[in-house]
Amino acid sequence: MLYLRDASFVDWRTLKIRRGHLEAAPGPAGKVRFVSRIPRGEKALDCSGRLVTKSFVIAHHHLYSALACGMPGPARAPKNFPDMLKLVWWNLDRKLDRDMIRACAMAGGIAAAKAGATFIIDHHSSPNAVQGSLDVIADALDEIGLSHLLCVELSDRDGKAKSEAGLEETDDYLRKRQGLVGLHASFTVGDDLLYRAIAMAVGRNAGIHIHVAEAVDDQKDCVKKHGMRVIQRLARTGVLESPKTLLVHGLHLSAQERALFRSSRSWFVQNEESNQNNAVGAFDPKGLGDRLLLGTDGMHGDMIASTRAVYLAAQGRGGMSPLSAYRRLRRAHDYLSENKFSGDGENNLVILDYRPPTPVSTGNLAGHFLYGINASHVDSVVSGGKLIVKNKRMVLVDEDKVRQFTLKQTERLWRRL
Ligand SMILES: [Zn+2]
Repeated sequence: MLYLRDASFVDWRTLKIRRGHLEAAPGPAGKVRFVSRIPRGEKALDCSGRLVTKSFVIAHHHLYSALACGMPGPARAPKNFPDMLKLVWWNLDRKLDRDMIRACAMAGGIAAAKAGATFIIDHHSSPNAVQGSLDVIADALDEIGLSHLLCVELSDRDGKAKSEAGLEETDDYLRKRQGLVGLHASFTVGDDLLYRAIAMAVGRNAGIHIHVAEAVDDQKDCVKKHGMRVIQRLARTGVLESPKTLLVHGLHLSAQERALFRSSRSWFVQNEESNQNNAVGAFDPKGLGDRLLLGTDGMHGDMIASTRAVYLAAQGRGGMSPLSAYRRLRRAHDYLSENKFSGDGENNLVILDYRPPTPVSTGNLAGHFLYGINASHVDSVVSGGKLIVKNKRMVLVDEDKVRQFTLKQTERLWRRL
């Protein structure tokens, strides 16, 4: 059992605050409860003056880009988004090998944990080292103490042999662990691959995880090749029928596509900072309903920052209340629990050393989330009832050793770019 002494516990659903000692049971279904006193002889983490609440979920990440920060730029400036993929991201992911993939997962996983996340939904790409790649990532995240839902970004962009290898890796992984069937985006996925991915998702009881209309080019390509728009193509093939399906971005949607999505069972993941970074357009939630989640799209692992970005961007597009932004951050827990994915139980907690100059209450907590609390306040993190970050240091992995390894792998990777 893990004990948290004198915590100010914030219920993530109601934002009600209650002070006392907490007992967190280990395991995937471990409960958290208040206890009147900490049993004699048991060690307890001092949480006095700290807020304790549910930890965060990153609903769309690309851990494979974790070694990209500060990397040399492309030979010429990209002209548009597809050009950026070719010059930057497809150049990077083709160079990844097993050690680099592990370094990415360790570096990105540690960064996410230190920012208060305990669950990562990742979209992985390493076309020249796909076999066994998901196990490498899963093992790294397990070592750190993070839960996950992984997939390979299947695509026809590198030819048939690569998409076959990706399908094989996906099937192999889904036989052993929970995960999703990943597809890059409509414009790099032909009908044969799409149908086979869907059949695999149905057979393995997984959802599809795909980028949708991130740039307008995805729509143009779909109309040209298939005579319909992206959401129509996905709806027609049954992708939207699974409540596990994650559609990512959705920046260029017609009213009809919005209605199609809304009447489906799938979810959209918004990635505001990435959209701004790539200058591909703005996410508009109009007509999409409330099956909306938040991701970082590989930019970082900090969901408080992502929520703030969504909130600030919304101010110039019709407005958004702090509570609505907070709720969108928290919808990921509903996605995971409704689909019975394991790893996001009650015993996943973030301990925030946040001591603002103003009072904190149920009524203003969302405001504190947007204007006060940030990742620097993350003091400790509990995942599955176990401490994985304690007083800002990783508990289960040796950070300094990991950093030596990631620096070495980064050097190897950048030399290949
Ligand atoms: Zn993405």
